[in-house]
Amino acid sequence: MFRYSFAASGRHFLQIPGPANVPDRILRAMDHPTIDHRGPEFAELGKAVLAGIKDVFRTRSPVIIYPSSGTGAWEAALVNTLSPGDQVLMFETGQFATLWQKIALKLGLVVEFVPGDWRHGVDPAVVEDRLAADTGNAIKAVLAVHNETSTGVTSRIAEVRAAIDRARHPALFMVDTVSGLGSIDYRHDEWGIDVSVTGSQKGLMLPPGLGFNALSDKALAASKSARLPRAYWGWEEMLASNKNGYFPYTPATGLLYGLHEALAMLREEGLDNVFARHARFGEATRRAVRAWGLELLCLDPREYSNVLTAILLPAGHDADALRKVILENFNMSLGQGLGKIAGKVFRIGHLGDFNELTLLGALAGVEMGLQLAGIPAQRGGVDAAMRYFGEKSGAQSALKRVA
Ligand SMILES: *Cc1c(COP(=O)(O)O)cnc(C)c1O
Repeated sequence: MFRYSFAASGRHFLQIPGPANVPDRILRAMDHPTIDHRGPEFAELGKAVLAGIKDVFRTRSPVIIYPSSGTGAWEAALVNTLSPGDQVLMFETGQFATLWQKIALKLGLVVEFVPGDWRHGVDPAVVEDRLAADTGNAIKAVLAVHNETSTGVTSRIAEVRAAIDRARHPALFMVDTVSGLGSIDYRHDEWGIDVSVTGSQKGLMLPPGLGFNALSDKALAASKSARLPRAYWGWEEMLASNKNGYFPYTPATGLLYGLHEALAMLREEGLDNVFARHARFGEATRRAVRAWGLELLCLDPREYSNVLTAILLPAGHDADALRKVILENFNMSLGQGLGKIAGKVFRIGHLGDFNELTLLGALAGVEMGLQLAGIPAQRGGVDAAMRYFGEKSGAQSALKRVA
């Protein structure tokens, strides 16, 4: 089995913004023999997870679960609803928006990719202008990334919905909430989302391997006439089997056991408490960054991500060298800069199975790493986070959450 070359005792700190840490409870739930996925016991599991996941998306519509990465669920959203040559509107918020766009191009869609600086989310005013100008309704879908994991910027999806409505445009609205769902507020039905895309390995706290599409009636209607080729990703066959708790092909049974446990954990804590917990981690991390005298990549406080924080290093300093120092000295993995910000930023994930002391440990590792790597940064970041957690606004009784 692969091991780090240094002797590591204690837990590895996995502070990348996904895959996130898998809680022991979920690991234990997955330690279960594979069962016949066409047998009666399986149907109970299938029905429970297909119903339970709806609460996390805050939807009453069906949710499809694929054995796939998030990328598969991106493709599924497109091939089920669109036809070759359809025009779609997308926004360059960062690396994940860029990758989804590339898939749309490969599938033969005509993409209008609104350029961005990787430091802001989707601008609702641009959405409204662009759709209002499309008097012939040529744009068939608006596609946005909710939480841009490469930049630590969260787009204001409810405001984008309102912009689409103000333009009175019939385009489908599809949202990637791969790293948002289960960590920060997301409302599939209330925000009028037609297809929401997610994966198992971020806020759902599972290993990688499940992809999800939450649907709407409008998306289902669009799928009847959509002509992009689809086989593995077809919703129709999935929905037909899912009615009885089954899947048209072999599901990822082990991960579904894990999902069943993850849904129980989210239900026990309560989604609003989960979001409040992530908000405290986000705020504490940003206070630490300011104390270090470093710069947040996200420029608009309305768009700060509570899932992860992307931090710019001073010019001339290599973020990947810093991450290497931290991994080798403190056994902690931090997120690397992706795409055009590679080497310039590093990212601290603060999502999922996580508490105040985990975050303080992560911040301590970063603070020591900054010194060791010779980055011009002040100390005092951990202290700023501790002071915040010690204040009334930052503190919340951990025991109350369990009660
Ligand atoms: C992780 C992630 C994905 C891609 O997921 P894979 O499972 O790697 O295919 C897509 N979008 C966002 C925003 C993500 O964070």
